[in-house]
Amino acid sequence: MTSTASDPDCLFCRIVAGTVPADVVHESATTVAFRDISPGAPTHVLLVPRDHHADAASLAAAEPARVAELVAAAGEVARQEGLERGYRLVWNTGPDAGQTVHHVHLHLLGGRGLGWPPG
Ligand code: 5GP
Repeated sequence: MTSTASDPDCLFCRIVAGTVPADVVHESATTVAFRDISPGAPTHVLLVPRDHHADAASLAAAEPARVAELVAAAGEVARQEGLERGYRLVWNTGPDAGQTVHHVHLHLLGGRGLGWPPG
């Protein structure tokens, strides 16, 4: 499944629906942002569209405006979190990138110096 309004078997659809708890830091009509359960940095937030899409490319093909909304929401959360020194946005896509949840999510990482290239 790549694109549907909601997938009952999808963890992030369930977080969006509120049936799985999460520490939500930002919400809009189309986007939900919540803290990663296993943070890789002092600030580690996941931003997802409410509708189910498997990955960033699928979302961009189906609803390109949502991609811009996620990036803009990440900027708002970064301001909220006080990340004046900068932050990193990551879309893991597919197994080589380590994508484990197949509902597109934008990682927002910040609050410390981040090494490059990533592992
Ligand atoms: P991926 O590896 O697919 O790019 O990222 C999935 C992210 O989801 C991981 O960073 C992981 O820690 C996070 N995650 C997995 N299960 C949960 C959960 O139940 N709640 C929250 N808030 N984050 C989760």
